Amino acid sequence: MYNINDKGYYGEFGGAYIPEMLYPNVEELRQNYLKIMAEPSFKEEFDQLLKDYVGRPSPLYLAKRLSEKYNTKIYLKREDLNHTGAHKINNTIGQILMAQRLGKKRIIAETGAGQHGVATATVCALMGMECIVYMGEIDIARQAPNVARMKMLGAKVLPALSGSRTLKDATNEAIRDWINNPVNTHYIIGSVVGPHPYPDMVARFQAVVSEEIQWQLQEKEGKSTPDYVVACVGGGSNAAGAFYHYLENTDVKLIAVEAAGKGIHSGESAATSILGKEGIIHGSKTLLMQTDDGQITEPYSISAGLDYPGVGPMHAHLYKTGRAEFISITDDEAMTAGLELSQLEGIIPAIETAHSLAIFDHKKFKEDDVVVINLSGRGDKDLQNYIDYFKL
Ligand SMILES: *Cc1c(COP(=O)(O)O)cnc(C)c1O
Repeated sequence: MYNINDKGYYGEFGGAYIPEMLYPNVEELRQNYLKIMAEPSFKEEFDQLLKDYVGRPSPLYLAKRLSEKYNTKIYLKREDLNHTGAHKINNTIGQILMAQRLGKKRIIAETGAGQHGVATATVCALMGMECIVYMGEIDIARQAPNVARMKMLGAKVLPALSGSRTLKDATNEAIRDWINNPVNTHYIIGSVVGPHPYPDMVARFQAVVSEEIQWQLQEKEGKSTPDYVVACVGGGSNAAGAFYHYLENTDVKLIAVEAAGKGIHSGESAATSILGKEGIIHGSKTLLMQTDDGQITEPYSISAGLDYPGVGPMHAHLYKTGRAEFISITDDEAMTAGLELSQLEGIIPAIETAHSLAIFDHKKFKEDDVVVINLSGRGDKDLQNYIDYFKL
Protein backbone atom coordinates (compact mmCIF):
# COMPACT_ATOMS: atom_id res chain seq x y z
CA MET A 1 0.00 0.00 0.00
CA TYR A 2 2.80 2.41 0.87
CA ASN A 3 5.56 0.69 -1.07
CA ILE A 4 6.07 0.65 -4.82
CA ASN A 5 3.66 -1.21 -7.14
CA ASP A 6 4.71 -3.35 -10.08
CA LYS A 7 4.33 -0.40 -12.46
CA GLY A 8 6.94 1.61 -10.57
CA TYR A 9 4.52 3.93 -8.77
CA TYR A 10 3.93 4.88 -5.17
CA GLY A 11 0.25 5.72 -5.46
CA GLU A 12 0.17 8.42 -8.14
CA PHE A 13 3.88 9.26 -7.81
CA GLY A 14 6.98 7.79 -9.42
CA GLY A 15 7.23 6.20 -12.86
CA ALA A 16 9.89 6.85 -15.46
CA TYR A 17 9.51 10.08 -17.44
CA ILE A 18 12.68 10.06 -19.49
CA PRO A 19 13.90 11.07 -22.94
CA GLU A 20 13.63 8.22 -25.42
CA MET A 21 17.42 8.14 -25.82
CA LEU A 22 17.75 7.06 -22.19
CA TYR A 23 15.19 4.31 -22.40
CA PRO A 24 17.58 1.38 -23.14
CA ASN A 25 19.78 2.22 -20.12
CA VAL A 26 16.94 2.55 -17.65
CA GLU A 27 15.13 -0.46 -19.09
CA GLU A 28 18.22 -2.67 -18.73
CA LEU A 29 18.40 -1.72 -15.08
CA ARG A 30 14.67 -2.16 -14.53
CA GLN A 31 14.67 -5.64 -16.02
CA ASN A 32 17.62 -6.82 -13.97
CA TYR A 33 17.81 -5.08 -10.60
CA LEU A 34 15.47 -7.33 -8.60
CA LYS A 35 16.89 -10.49 -10.15
CA ILE A 36 20.45 -9.41 -9.33
CA MET A 37 19.58 -8.32 -5.80
CA ALA A 38 17.98 -11.70 -5.17
CA GLU A 39 21.11 -13.64 -6.16
CA PRO A 40 22.69 -15.24 -3.07
CA SER A 41 26.19 -14.17 -4.20
CA PHE A 42 25.04 -10.56 -4.50
CA LYS A 43 23.51 -10.54 -1.05
CA GLU A 44 26.57 -12.20 0.41
CA GLU A 45 28.99 -9.67 -1.08
CA PHE A 46 26.76 -6.71 -0.17
CA ASP A 47 26.43 -7.88 3.45
CA GLN A 48 30.14 -8.62 3.72
CA LEU A 49 31.13 -5.14 2.50
CA LEU A 50 28.58 -3.46 4.74
CA LYS A 51 30.11 -5.31 7.66
CA ASP A 52 33.85 -5.17 6.97
CA TYR A 53 34.14 -1.98 4.92
CA VAL A 54 31.29 0.26 6.10
CA GLY A 55 31.35 -0.98 9.68
CA ARG A 56 27.77 -2.23 10.00
CA PRO A 57 25.67 -2.88 11.92
CA SER A 58 25.62 0.74 13.06
CA PRO A 59 24.78 0.96 16.77
CA LEU A 60 21.32 1.80 18.07
CA TYR A 61 22.17 4.07 20.96
CA LEU A 62 19.85 5.01 23.83
CA ALA A 63 20.51 8.74 24.27
CA LYS A 64 19.99 9.08 28.02
CA ARG A 65 20.57 12.79 28.52
CA LEU A 66 18.56 13.75 25.45
CA SER A 67 15.78 11.42 26.61
CA GLU A 68 15.76 13.00 30.05
CA LYS A 69 15.56 16.48 28.62
CA TYR A 70 12.51 15.70 26.46
CA ASN A 71 10.98 13.19 28.84
CA THR A 72 10.67 10.35 26.33
CA LYS A 73 12.83 7.41 25.27
CA ILE A 74 15.09 8.43 22.38
CA TYR A 75 17.28 6.02 20.43
CA LEU A 76 19.76 7.26 17.85
CA LYS A 77 20.52 5.04 14.85
CA ARG A 78 24.19 5.82 14.34
CA GLU A 79 24.63 6.10 10.56
CA ASP A 80 27.15 8.82 11.38
CA LEU A 81 29.58 6.06 12.36
CA ASN A 82 29.62 4.53 8.87
CA HIS A 83 32.78 4.78 6.76
CA THR A 84 32.67 8.21 5.02
CA GLY A 85 30.40 9.53 7.75
CA ALA A 86 26.82 9.03 6.56
CA HIS A 87 24.23 6.64 5.21
CA LYS A 88 25.05 7.40 1.55
CA ILE A 89 27.68 4.66 1.41
CA ASN A 90 25.01 1.93 1.86
CA ASN A 91 23.58 2.90 -1.51
CA THR A 92 26.83 3.39 -3.41
CA ILE A 93 28.10 -0.03 -2.26
CA GLY A 94 24.88 -1.61 -3.54
CA GLN A 95 25.00 0.22 -6.86
CA ILE A 96 28.65 -0.52 -7.60
CA LEU A 97 27.95 -4.24 -7.10
CA MET A 98 24.92 -3.85 -9.38
CA ALA A 99 27.08 -2.11 -12.02
CA GLN A 100 29.66 -4.92 -11.91
CA ARG A 101 27.01 -7.56 -12.44
CA LEU A 102 25.60 -5.62 -15.37
CA GLY A 103 29.10 -5.71 -16.91
CA LYS A 104 29.70 -1.95 -16.58
CA LYS A 105 33.25 -0.59 -16.52
CA ARG A 106 32.66 3.08 -15.95
CA ILE A 107 30.71 4.97 -13.28
CA ILE A 108 29.19 8.43 -13.55
CA ALA A 109 27.48 10.47 -10.87
CA GLU A 110 26.44 14.03 -10.23
CA THR A 111 26.84 15.85 -6.96
CA GLY A 112 25.88 19.19 -5.45
CA ALA A 113 27.50 19.49 -2.04
CA GLY A 114 29.89 16.67 -2.89
CA GLN A 115 28.77 14.11 -0.32
CA HIS A 116 27.33 11.71 -2.89
CA GLY A 117 30.35 12.34 -5.12
CA VAL A 118 32.67 11.30 -2.30
CA ALA A 119 30.60 8.18 -1.51
CA THR A 120 30.70 7.25 -5.21
CA ALA A 121 34.43 7.95 -5.63
CA THR A 122 35.04 5.80 -2.55
CA VAL A 123 33.35 2.68 -3.92
CA CYS A 124 34.95 3.20 -7.35
CA ALA A 125 38.37 3.18 -5.70
CA LEU A 126 37.34 0.10 -3.75
CA MET A 127 36.41 -1.73 -6.96
CA GLY A 128 39.00 -0.21 -9.29
CA MET A 129 36.36 1.33 -11.56
CA GLU A 130 36.69 4.52 -13.59
CA CYS A 131 34.75 7.32 -11.88
CA ILE A 132 33.48 10.57 -13.36
CA VAL A 133 31.63 13.01 -11.15
CA TYR A 134 29.80 15.96 -12.69
CA MET A 135 29.56 19.02 -10.53
CA GLY A 136 28.43 22.59 -11.20
CA GLU A 137 31.31 25.02 -11.56
CA ILE A 138 29.90 27.12 -8.70
CA ASP A 139 29.61 24.08 -6.44
CA ILE A 140 33.19 23.07 -7.24
CA ALA A 141 34.34 26.42 -5.90
CA ARG A 142 32.04 26.23 -2.83
CA GLN A 143 32.87 22.64 -1.86
CA ALA A 144 36.64 22.53 -2.20
CA PRO A 145 37.31 19.91 0.53
CA ASN A 146 34.95 17.37 -1.07
CA VAL A 147 36.41 18.06 -4.52
CA ALA A 148 39.85 17.34 -3.08
CA ARG A 149 38.56 14.12 -1.49
CA MET A 150 37.12 12.91 -4.79
CA LYS A 151 40.37 13.68 -6.62
CA MET A 152 42.41 11.94 -3.95
CA LEU A 153 40.17 8.89 -4.36
CA GLY A 154 40.99 8.86 -8.07
CA ALA A 155 37.78 10.32 -9.49
CA LYS A 156 37.64 12.82 -12.32
CA VAL A 157 35.54 15.85 -11.35
CA LEU A 158 34.10 17.50 -14.46
CA PRO A 159 32.58 20.99 -14.17
CA ALA A 160 29.09 21.72 -15.50
CA LEU A 161 29.45 25.12 -17.17
CA SER A 162 25.89 25.78 -18.34
CA GLY A 163 22.86 27.36 -16.66
CA SER A 164 23.23 28.24 -12.99
CA ARG A 165 26.31 25.95 -12.85
CA THR A 166 24.92 23.99 -9.88
CA LEU A 167 23.32 20.61 -9.22
CA LYS A 168 20.66 20.56 -11.93
CA ASP A 169 23.22 21.45 -14.59
CA ALA A 170 25.51 18.69 -13.31
CA THR A 171 22.54 16.31 -13.59
CA ASN A 172 22.01 17.36 -17.21
CA GLU A 173 25.67 16.65 -17.97
CA ALA A 174 25.47 13.22 -16.34
CA ILE A 175 22.35 12.33 -18.34
CA ARG A 176 24.04 13.49 -21.55
CA ASP A 177 27.05 11.31 -20.72
CA TRP A 178 24.83 8.28 -20.04
CA ILE A 179 22.99 8.70 -23.34
CA ASN A 180 26.36 8.74 -25.12
CA ASN A 181 27.73 5.73 -23.21
CA PRO A 182 24.81 3.32 -22.84
CA VAL A 183 26.77 0.07 -22.91
CA ASN A 184 29.74 0.42 -20.57
CA THR A 185 28.49 3.01 -18.05
CA HIS A 186 26.33 2.92 -14.93
CA TYR A 187 24.87 6.11 -13.46
CA ILE A 188 24.87 6.04 -9.65
CA ILE A 189 22.02 8.20 -8.36
CA GLY A 190 22.43 9.23 -4.72
CA SER A 191 18.93 9.30 -3.30
CA VAL A 192 15.45 7.80 -3.75
CA VAL A 193 14.86 10.04 -6.77
CA GLY A 194 15.09 9.67 -10.55
CA PRO A 195 13.15 7.37 -12.89
CA HIS A 196 11.93 3.95 -11.78
CA PRO A 197 13.68 1.69 -10.76
CA TYR A 198 16.09 4.06 -8.97
CA PRO A 199 13.84 5.11 -6.06
CA ASP A 200 12.99 1.49 -5.29
CA MET A 201 16.54 0.21 -5.78
CA VAL A 202 18.04 2.89 -3.53
CA ALA A 203 15.33 2.32 -0.88
CA ARG A 204 16.13 -1.41 -0.87
CA PHE A 205 19.85 -0.74 -0.37
CA GLN A 206 19.11 1.70 2.45
CA ALA A 207 16.54 -0.68 3.98
CA VAL A 208 19.39 -2.27 5.93
CA VAL A 209 18.88 0.61 8.38
CA SER A 210 15.38 -0.45 9.51
CA GLU A 211 16.28 -4.13 9.20
CA GLU A 212 18.89 -3.53 11.89
CA ILE A 213 16.62 -1.28 13.99
CA GLN A 214 14.14 -4.17 14.20
CA TRP A 215 16.51 -6.68 15.80
CA GLN A 216 18.36 -4.06 17.81
CA LEU A 217 15.10 -2.87 19.39
CA GLN A 218 14.08 -6.48 19.97
CA GLU A 219 17.27 -6.90 22.00
CA LYS A 220 16.90 -3.64 23.92
CA GLU A 221 13.14 -3.25 24.32
CA GLY A 222 11.82 -6.76 23.82
CA LYS A 223 9.86 -5.65 20.74
CA SER A 224 10.97 -4.90 17.21
CA THR A 225 8.74 -1.87 16.68
CA PRO A 226 9.23 1.66 18.02
CA ASP A 227 6.36 4.12 18.47
CA TYR A 228 8.01 6.64 16.15
CA VAL A 229 10.72 6.67 13.51
CA VAL A 230 12.10 10.11 12.66
CA ALA A 231 14.38 11.05 9.74
CA CYS A 232 15.32 14.14 7.77
CA VAL A 233 14.38 14.30 4.10
CA GLY A 234 16.35 15.82 1.25
CA GLY A 235 15.66 13.41 -1.60
CA GLY A 236 14.60 10.95 1.06
CA SER A 237 17.05 8.04 1.07
CA ASN A 238 17.98 7.89 4.75
CA ALA A 239 14.30 8.26 5.65
CA ALA A 240 13.34 5.55 3.16
CA GLY A 241 15.87 3.24 4.78
CA ALA A 242 14.72 3.98 8.32
CA PHE A 243 11.02 3.66 7.39
CA TYR A 244 11.26 0.72 4.99
CA HIS A 245 10.40 -2.27 7.18
CA TYR A 246 7.77 -0.28 9.06
CA LEU A 247 5.91 1.16 6.05
CA GLU A 248 2.95 -1.21 6.27
CA ASN A 249 2.78 -1.32 10.07
CA THR A 250 0.72 1.73 10.97
CA ASP A 251 1.31 1.23 14.70
CA VAL A 252 4.72 2.71 13.96
CA LYS A 253 4.33 6.43 13.30
CA LEU A 254 6.67 7.95 10.74
CA ILE A 255 7.95 11.51 10.95
CA ALA A 256 9.73 13.10 7.96
CA VAL A 257 11.61 16.30 8.68
CA GLU A 258 12.17 18.86 5.96
CA ALA A 259 14.23 22.03 5.84
CA ALA A 260 12.18 25.19 6.30
CA GLY A 261 15.30 27.29 5.65
CA LYS A 262 14.54 30.84 6.78
CA GLY A 263 10.86 29.91 7.27
CA ILE A 264 8.32 27.97 5.20
CA HIS A 265 6.81 31.11 3.68
CA SER A 266 9.99 33.16 3.52
CA GLY A 267 10.67 32.27 -0.10
CA GLU A 268 13.92 30.72 1.08
CA SER A 269 13.16 27.16 2.06
CA ALA A 270 13.27 23.54 0.98
CA ALA A 271 9.99 22.38 2.58
CA THR A 272 9.15 20.48 -0.55
CA SER A 273 6.12 18.45 0.46
CA ILE A 274 4.32 21.30 2.15
CA LEU A 275 5.08 23.86 -0.58
CA GLY A 276 5.31 21.46 -3.48
CA LYS A 277 2.88 20.71 -6.26
CA GLU A 278 2.75 17.71 -8.50
CA GLY A 279 5.27 17.80 -11.30
CA ILE A 280 8.08 15.93 -12.99
CA ILE A 281 11.68 16.27 -11.93
CA HIS A 282 14.65 14.05 -12.76
CA GLY A 283 12.44 11.47 -14.44
CA SER A 284 9.75 10.89 -11.83
CA LYS A 285 6.38 12.36 -10.96
CA THR A 286 6.50 13.79 -7.48
CA LEU A 287 5.98 16.90 -5.39
CA LEU A 288 8.25 19.78 -6.21
CA MET A 289 8.50 23.47 -5.52
CA GLN A 290 7.49 25.39 -8.61
CA THR A 291 6.01 28.66 -9.76
CA ASP A 292 2.42 28.86 -11.06
CA ASP A 293 3.64 28.30 -14.61
CA GLY A 294 5.70 25.27 -13.62
CA GLN A 295 9.23 26.68 -13.32
CA ILE A 296 11.19 24.88 -10.62
CA THR A 297 11.86 27.17 -7.65
CA GLU A 298 15.39 27.42 -6.29
CA PRO A 299 15.41 25.71 -2.91
CA TYR A 300 17.31 27.05 0.07
CA SER A 301 18.55 25.44 3.28
CA ILE A 302 21.62 26.00 5.43
CA SER A 303 22.32 22.28 4.93
CA ALA A 304 23.51 21.40 1.45
CA GLY A 305 22.04 17.89 1.66
CA LEU A 306 18.45 19.05 2.13
CA ASP A 307 18.65 21.79 -0.45
CA TYR A 308 16.67 19.98 -3.17
CA PRO A 309 13.52 21.29 -4.92
CA GLY A 310 11.80 17.88 -5.07
CA VAL A 311 11.32 14.89 -2.84
CA GLY A 312 11.40 11.21 -3.80
CA PRO A 313 8.09 9.69 -4.96
CA MET A 314 7.86 7.43 -1.90
CA HIS A 315 7.77 10.47 0.35
CA ALA A 316 5.33 12.33 -1.90
CA HIS A 317 3.03 9.34 -1.40
CA LEU A 318 3.63 9.17 2.35
CA TYR A 319 2.75 12.86 2.51
CA LYS A 320 -0.34 12.64 0.32
CA THR A 321 -1.75 9.63 2.17
CA GLY A 322 -0.88 11.01 5.60
CA ARG A 323 1.11 7.87 6.42
CA ALA A 324 4.00 10.06 7.52
CA GLU A 325 3.78 13.32 9.39
CA PHE A 326 5.89 16.08 7.82
CA ILE A 327 7.50 18.69 10.05
CA SER A 328 9.64 21.57 8.75
CA ILE A 329 12.52 22.94 10.74
CA THR A 330 14.26 26.26 10.18
CA ASP A 331 18.01 26.84 9.87
CA ASP A 332 18.10 28.38 13.34
CA GLU A 333 16.21 25.51 14.97
CA ALA A 334 18.48 22.95 13.31
CA MET A 335 21.70 24.71 14.29
CA THR A 336 20.52 24.98 17.90
CA ALA A 337 19.61 21.28 17.96
CA GLY A 338 23.01 20.37 16.49
CA LEU A 339 24.75 22.24 19.28
CA GLU A 340 22.46 20.68 21.86
CA LEU A 341 23.20 17.10 20.75
CA SER A 342 26.91 17.88 20.79
CA GLN A 343 26.76 19.04 24.39
CA LEU A 344 24.21 16.56 25.73
CA GLU A 345 25.56 13.42 24.10
CA GLY A 346 29.03 14.21 22.74
CA ILE A 347 27.89 13.65 19.16
CA ILE A 348 28.30 16.41 16.57
CA PRO A 349 25.67 15.71 13.90
CA ALA A 350 25.55 16.74 10.25
CA ILE A 351 23.36 19.82 9.82
CA GLU A 352 20.94 17.73 7.73
CA THR A 353 20.56 15.37 10.67
CA ALA A 354 20.27 18.24 13.14
CA HIS A 355 16.90 19.07 11.54
CA SER A 356 15.43 15.81 12.80
CA LEU A 357 16.79 16.51 16.30
CA ALA A 358 14.88 19.79 16.40
CA ILE A 359 11.36 18.36 16.35
CA PHE A 360 10.83 18.35 20.10
CA ASP A 361 9.48 21.90 20.15
CA HIS A 362 6.97 20.92 17.46
CA LYS A 363 5.94 17.51 18.61
CA LYS A 364 5.27 16.20 22.12
CA PHE A 365 5.97 12.56 22.94
CA LYS A 366 4.78 10.49 25.89
CA GLU A 367 7.19 9.41 28.57
CA ASP A 368 7.04 5.76 27.55
CA ASP A 369 7.17 6.37 23.79
CA VAL A 370 10.12 4.77 22.02
CA VAL A 371 11.38 7.28 19.46
CA VAL A 372 14.08 6.24 16.98
CA ILE A 373 15.85 9.10 15.23
CA ASN A 374 18.00 8.24 12.25
CA LEU A 375 21.30 10.00 12.83
CA SER A 376 22.07 10.17 9.12
CA GLY A 377 25.56 11.67 9.28
CA ARG A 378 28.32 13.26 11.30
CA GLY A 379 29.10 16.95 11.46
CA ASP A 380 32.79 17.07 10.55
CA LYS A 381 31.94 18.31 7.06
CA ASP A 382 29.83 21.11 8.58
CA LEU A 383 32.33 22.43 11.07
CA GLN A 384 32.93 25.69 9.20
CA ASN A 385 29.17 26.32 9.13
CA TYR A 386 28.89 25.71 12.86
CA ILE A 387 31.92 27.96 13.48
CA ASP A 388 30.43 30.81 11.44
CA TYR A 389 26.98 30.44 12.96
CA PHE A 390 27.97 30.21 16.63
CA LYS A 391 31.15 32.33 16.28
CA LEU A 392 33.09 29.48 17.88
C1 LIG B 1 22.80 13.64 1.76
C2 LIG B 1 22.41 13.67 3.17
C3 LIG B 1 21.05 13.74 3.57
C4 LIG B 1 19.93 13.93 2.60
O1 LIG B 1 19.75 12.92 1.69
P1 LIG B 1 18.56 11.86 1.79
O2 LIG B 1 18.59 11.15 0.49
O3 LIG B 1 17.30 12.64 2.00
O4 LIG B 1 18.84 10.98 2.93
C5 LIG B 1 20.77 13.67 4.92
N1 LIG B 1 21.74 13.55 5.86
C6 LIG B 1 23.04 13.48 5.51
C7 LIG B 1 24.07 13.35 6.58
C8 LIG B 1 23.42 13.53 4.17
O5 LIG B 1 24.72 13.48 3.83
